[in-house]
Amino acid sequence: MKVNTNYLRRDDLLALYNKPLLELVFEAASVHRQYHNPQEVQMASLLSIKTGGCPEDCGYCPQAARYHTDVNVQKLMNVDTVIEQAKNAKANGSSRLCMGAAWREVRDNKDFDSVVEMVQEVNNLGMEVCCTLGMLNEEQAFRLKKAGLFAYNHNLDSSPEFYGDIISTREYQERLSTIENARKAGITVCSGGIIGMGETVDDRIGLLLSYLQMEKPPESIPINALVAVEGTPLENQKPIEQWEMIRMVAVTRIVFPESVVRLSAGRTKMSMEGQALCFLAGAGSIFTGDKLLTTPNPEYNEDREMFDILGLVPKIAFQDAPQPISEPDEILLKNKEELRLRDAALKLANEEAIASGFEPRKFTSVN
Ligand code: SF4
Repeated sequence: MKVNTNYLRRDDLLALYNKPLLELVFEAASVHRQYHNPQEVQMASLLSIKTGGCPEDCGYCPQAARYHTDVNVQKLMNVDTVIEQAKNAKANGSSRLCMGAAWREVRDNKDFDSVVEMVQEVNNLGMEVCCTLGMLNEEQAFRLKKAGLFAYNHNLDSSPEFYGDIISTREYQERLSTIENARKAGITVCSGGIIGMGETVDDRIGLLLSYLQMEKPPESIPINALVAVEGTPLENQKPIEQWEMIRMVAVTRIVFPESVVRLSAGRTKMSMEGQALCFLAGAGSIFTGDKLLTTPNPEYNEDREMFDILGLVPKIAFQDAPQPISEPDEILLKNKEELRLRDAALKLANEEAIASGFEPRKFTSVN
């Protein structure tokens, strides 16, 4: 992943950010055309596979257990439901599925086993699979990679300086370590930020500087506008102007010419014209479907209409990197074998009981 060496210093980045808007969009559009097909925009879907009840305190997030929001806590979705949702997303044009679980970190338990199975199944549908599951250790990252995970999402959210104003339950460094663990496993990285949380322009630049300091910047950089949700500490935050989104997308595009810049949360507040300028400035992906985890998002039909008007086509999967191979997972195989042995033992016990004259208990329906 290349970075633009003209903009490695904070001052140069600030000067770029503050350029007259149309100049900036023009420069971004020129870079975009050099590295990407400007007609293609990837449609991705974001599915909340485990909702709410998160012990973290991210100030923007309605899923944090400590805030009183409308989000209902739901346990992990079952694998079949996820496959059904993935098929539906694919039929509606999505070539990438991001599965989000409101966890502080991944734990080595049955829920994680199920996520591994989801990754295998969705990868085998021919979709790029991304997961956002909180903090991840190296071993877990390797397990997900083996299952066929294409990308791991872990946002830095903002600059290291502003980060502490928004989140206190985990450190910036912990986020960097999770990203590093995904990298070590050979998973592509999706990491970006949120604007409109009360940060300064300097903080937005600080976020980009964090990615510039990485050995390899993220392959995917989502740019989100805060969706201020009632009950969260940021509920009264004034919405940002769409010009700020366009500016942030354009600067990110110029600085990281090869990465996919994703126009993410906050699209419902943007006009089609505003979104069109984001595409011109290098946004190469949107999230489709009426929900972005728990917050509203434009529906598939609205996006298809927008694509028709703007002459955009959905980008197909695995154009930037080959499809991972889903390899058998030892733990899943062991779990299956244990289940098989348990069923066989139960069946045998039942047969022996019947052979020794035991009458199976009869149940009478209450209806
Ligand atoms: S953003 Fe993620 S980690 Fe933070 S509170 Fe929400 S679900 Fe938890």
